Amino acid sequence: MKKIAIFAGDGIGPEIVAAARQVLDAVDQAAHLGLHCTEGLVGGAALDASDDPLPVASLQLAMAADAVILGAVGGPRWDAYPPAKRPEQGLLRLRKGLDLYANLRPAQIFPQLLDASPLRPELVRDVDILVVRELTGDIYFGQPRGLEVVDGKRRGFNTMVYDEDEIRRIAHVAFRAAQGRRKQLCSVDKANVLETTRLWREVVTEVARDYPDVQLSHMYVDNAAMQLIRAPAQFDVLLTGNMFGDILSDEASQLTGSIGMLPSASLGEGRAMYEPIHGSAPDIAGQDKANPLATILSVAMMLRHSFHAESWAQRVEAAVQRVLDQGLRTADIAAPGASVIGTKAMGAAVVNALSLKDQ
Ligand code: NAD
Repeated sequence: MKKIAIFAGDGIGPEIVAAARQVLDAVDQAAHLGLHCTEGLVGGAALDASDDPLPVASLQLAMAADAVILGAVGGPRWDAYPPAKRPEQGLLRLRKGLDLYANLRPAQIFPQLLDASPLRPELVRDVDILVVRELTGDIYFGQPRGLEVVDGKRRGFNTMVYDEDEIRRIAHVAFRAAQGRRKQLCSVDKANVLETTRLWREVVTEVARDYPDVQLSHMYVDNAAMQLIRAPAQFDVLLTGNMFGDILSDEASQLTGSIGMLPSASLGEGRAMYEPIHGSAPDIAGQDKANPLATILSVAMMLRHSFHAESWAQRVEAAVQRVLDQGLRTADIAAPGASVIGTKAMGAAVVNALSLKDQ
């Protein structure tokens, strides 16, 4: 039996997760994967129920699971809460508690949605990038950090730090991912200025010896930010640290122009969480308007990375392509004036497009 913990969260979370669950259940029935799903509370929903955005029971549920599916957290109802009690803290604590150090964010162009990109179609037509971002180290967690007053002047400081083990384990994840793709890995750093990233470059170069089939290149982060706009199709796998990855993965995702389409995986040793990259979209929550495809594609990533069901992952991805080919669109990806369908109908359409009858 494979255990999945499901945290629908807030806003559109319950709607998109329900649609993704339909797809997951259909795959499970056809593929006999033996999945067992249990739902838990995180974010605002957990705050309402227990005054804690990540109750102990939720963390335990996630720790005991083979994989976690998360919708999204947050919303204006909880905006006035103190920082430690905000819904987003629940998500951060969940990632940290599971030691999910590798964040994988594919930014892939769907040819059917080419016009949604803010860049010219000829620049983005062939974009298929996987950003691999280190998620539990770097300047976001380094000590010392703080605010202080020195000689009457306020000062803020943070510490950028990586040890070689942290770099090595994320590098292995990226090289293995590249092996399953076009075998090109670009490691992004600022080795001309920062010692931390000079070590990063050294260790990534050492790890490369284990992967002679992968072509490794290095790029400074400022250049990478520029190249992602100038010629994004040049990248296959982009490997980088937590802070640079935070920025570059958002930049890469926007090349596609459709936040409702992009999934993500956060992986640790034997643990994993899958979630769409977007937030809880309170402006459209409860209206059957949200695009569930990012969450459905996150389920495909789960099948691939946690359950080694590559052919089923590909079937889910193909089903998403098929519904787009059929012209089915939620409002966020529809051309002006085109007809749109709701969250539920989109989920059902993907289930239909899985064509499971021949199983
Ligand atoms: P957002 O991603 O929720 O929404 C940005 C815009 O994109 C909105 O107009 C929204 O309607 C639209 N959108 C997002 N997902 C969509 C989907 N699946 N289908 C159709 N349209 C979609 O970002 P925001 O408005 O900045 O944040 C809203 C709340 O979500 C905040 O409380 C924020 O903290 C939280 N948030 C959570 C996560 C997470 O759970 N991982 C990530 C980002 C933001």
